[in-house]
Amino acid sequence: MVLERSGTSGSKIRVSGGGRCNFTNLNVTADNYISQNPRFCKSALSGFTPDDFIRMAEGYGVRYYEKEQGQMFCKGSAGEILSMLRRRCEETGVRIIYNTKIHDISRRGDAYVTVTNNGTFHSPAIVIATGGISYPQLGATPFGYRIAAQFGLNVVPTRPALVPLVFNAEDGARFDGLAGISFDAVVRCNSMEFSGGVLFTQRGLSGPPILQASSYWVEGSSIGINLLPGADAYEFLKGQRNQKVQLHSLLSGVLSRNLARRWCEVYSYIKPINQFNGRQLRGIADRLQDWKLFPKQTEGYRKAEVTSGGVDTEELSSKTMEAKKVKGLYFIGEVIDVTGQLGGYNLHWAWASGYACGHSI
Ligand SMILES: Cc1cc2nc3c(=O)[nH]c(=O)nc-3n(C[C@H](O)[C@H](O)[C@H](O)COP(=O)(O)OP(=O)(O)OC[C@H]3O[C@@H](n4cnc5c(N)ncnc54)[C@H](O)[C@@H]3O)c2cc1C
Repeated sequence: MVLERSGTSGSKIRVSGGGRCNFTNLNVTADNYISQNPRFCKSALSGFTPDDFIRMAEGYGVRYYEKEQGQMFCKGSAGEILSMLRRRCEETGVRIIYNTKIHDISRRGDAYVTVTNNGTFHSPAIVIATGGISYPQLGATPFGYRIAAQFGLNVVPTRPALVPLVFNAEDGARFDGLAGISFDAVVRCNSMEFSGGVLFTQRGLSGPPILQASSYWVEGSSIGINLLPGADAYEFLKGQRNQKVQLHSLLSGVLSRNLARRWCEVYSYIKPINQFNGRQLRGIADRLQDWKLFPKQTEGYRKAEVTSGGVDTEELSSKTMEAKKVKGLYFIGEVIDVTGQLGGYNLHWAWASGYACGHSI
């Protein structure tokens, strides 16, 4: 039996992957997850693989394709994944009770007693699958963390992850008005590196490599952006050093015109390329390949695709997801301190941890 607080199920699945649900990734490994114990997810991931999910999806006629880097999406809509999961519930006799507010969960002897506005339920086991606290507008609540604490389990402090970054006040003013402009780059943060399209927003930066970097970013630290990935900026500039063309015009070929101009204005590079000396060209090249920014903050839980942190993996069995010191109490999915990178890893963790738990029960 599933007790669901809202009037529907799978709200995040419906909006996931821009409505097409990036439901798994062919390259899933433990390295794609952030956790205080990076090895915790290994067992569940090997017990339920991307192939397992794909085979199930095929069995229900879900059409899918690989977008890039192993990311598997629905060809139709995310609704197909939801329909599959709901049908699977029907076929296996799982009842979902909607609009259920849980007032209290307690343990009496070997049984759990769950008091709700829809009645009181007794069960030998209880599985907390209430997700993280990102996107509260889709019904996310801190309920899972509260239950963990109630039963004496440690919760690793949470942070928004896979979330746009906000400029500090100075950069906000410097790069104001560029919202909507995008460029290809490599973004580095805390020894991790992600490539793809970066997008200026009203308040900072977004796009896949920024979202990825945000999961590793901590307040006060910097991100480094390589604006000329795959090129040697110094060699490129040196090759043009006899030209009378303005530096920003030269850069317009690789960055957008507005961004190139603003970037050169901000760093006082407004002159023809032949008027820079070798040392100055070196400085410009270094900044082009490692444009350091000190974001002020993230856009917070409202815009974060996931919540990092959560129920401490030290408290749980990696084979079954059962709490080591509370028999019959299980946690699965995002509520646990296991956070996937962008690319289908978070849903895959939800499937794999759920599968491990289901098998045990
Ligand atoms: C916009 C967006 C896009 C995303 N896209 C992708 C993607 O393409 N690929 C990917 O891998 N991941 C994606 N994610 C992340 C992924 O959706 C989540 O990691 C995943 O849904 C977590 O599954 P879960 O079952 O742990 O929790 P959830 O899917 O959050 O489900 C938790 C459920 O518990 C219910 N609930 C909450 N509190 C209570 C309570 N007190 N009582 C009863 N019920 C409660 C909620 O209503 C909800 O139905 C995306 C997330 C967002 C927000």
